[in-house]
Amino acid sequence: MLGSTGSIGKQTLDIIAEYPNLFNPWLLVARSSADLLIAQARLCRPHMVIIADEQYYEYVSDALSDTDIQVSTGSTAIAEAVTMPEIDTVVTAMVGYSGLESTIAAIGAGKRIALANKETLVVAGELIDRLLKKSPRVLYPVDSEHGAFYQCLVGERHEDIERLLLTASGGPFRTMPKEQLENVTAADALKHPNWSMGAKITIDSATMMNKGFEMIEARWLFGVEPQDIEIMVHPQSIVHSMVAFKDGSIKAQLGLPDMHLPIRYALGLPDRRLASDCRKMTLEDMACLTFERPDFDKFPLLNTAYAAARIGGTAPCVMNAANEIAVAAFLQNKIKFTDIYKIIEKTMERSPLVEHPEYQDYVDSNAAAREFAARMTDEIAI
Ligand code: MG
Repeated sequence: MLGSTGSIGKQTLDIIAEYPNLFNPWLLVARSSADLLIAQARLCRPHMVIIADEQYYEYVSDALSDTDIQVSTGSTAIAEAVTMPEIDTVVTAMVGYSGLESTIAAIGAGKRIALANKETLVVAGELIDRLLKKSPRVLYPVDSEHGAFYQCLVGERHEDIERLLLTASGGPFRTMPKEQLENVTAADALKHPNWSMGAKITIDSATMMNKGFEMIEARWLFGVEPQDIEIMVHPQSIVHSMVAFKDGSIKAQLGLPDMHLPIRYALGLPDRRLASDCRKMTLEDMACLTFERPDFDKFPLLNTAYAAARIGGTAPCVMNAANEIAVAAFLQNKIKFTDIYKIIEKTMERSPLVEHPEYQDYVDSNAAAREFAARMTDEIAI
């Protein structure tokens, strides 16, 4: 479980606890939430925990010294640990670029992967796609939209797909006039109307960068060209996404907006659905479903994402790096909401493109783009 102390991580551990006969947590990894990691370790009794940030190593190690749980630290330790033969499934739920190295290691070791870290596919989709062609195991999406595509595609032929209809809640600023976006605060942006998620992805939802990322994620997961993925705003978040087929049929997957649902589906794949006594959807929940086109003018990062997908190579990696820096600065109230777009666009304009990147090219592009974006952020900081 990579990212066990984040929003997806905590919900995944809830679900795992419901099915003790099916799951046995072997490794928990957190970046810096030491106290929560210690509490989770005491409760789940994994074989090993890793605290990625080395400054917390001694603290975690001391706190667990009366147990037989191994404690380790650093990103190399994570990449090594995920390849252990005892591990069958790796849930990747770290935030952002930091998920890439360990996901690649897990794919290389032939693990089954429940992918919650969409940035992995945004940054290095082309490389992951190549690695997966060689690897016997599979990538199962935890993202609700991609879980929906997966379910709509069960039993279908790839050549029968016409397009993927990717639904979006529209975020907290869906109905706000464009001119007002300049003055929204991090607190405003963190009020997501439907989904309860971590801070980074909630800001990505407010800018709709998240939907751009999901378009790229879908492209790699399902082998569909970006121009055949259509984004639809669906404010109720009940239809989690749809697939349109060449015969004129559309299949949709519906559910309540609760991340436990797609996590449970991903963990059950490929054998079963995990029965649960969670709240089930009623007629009232689905009595009013509406759909509208996204406003590309108000949310320009949607265009940026399609452009990055078309350009390919390291362009999406640069876009992601600049977004991580800009979102972190916005969360600290250092820049305006609309500065997020400016930082991403400028960083993409100024960054050299590697058309057919290898792993090291992603590492270098990410580092250079972050540096450029950070400099720009300092220049415009309020
Ligand atoms: Mg999603």
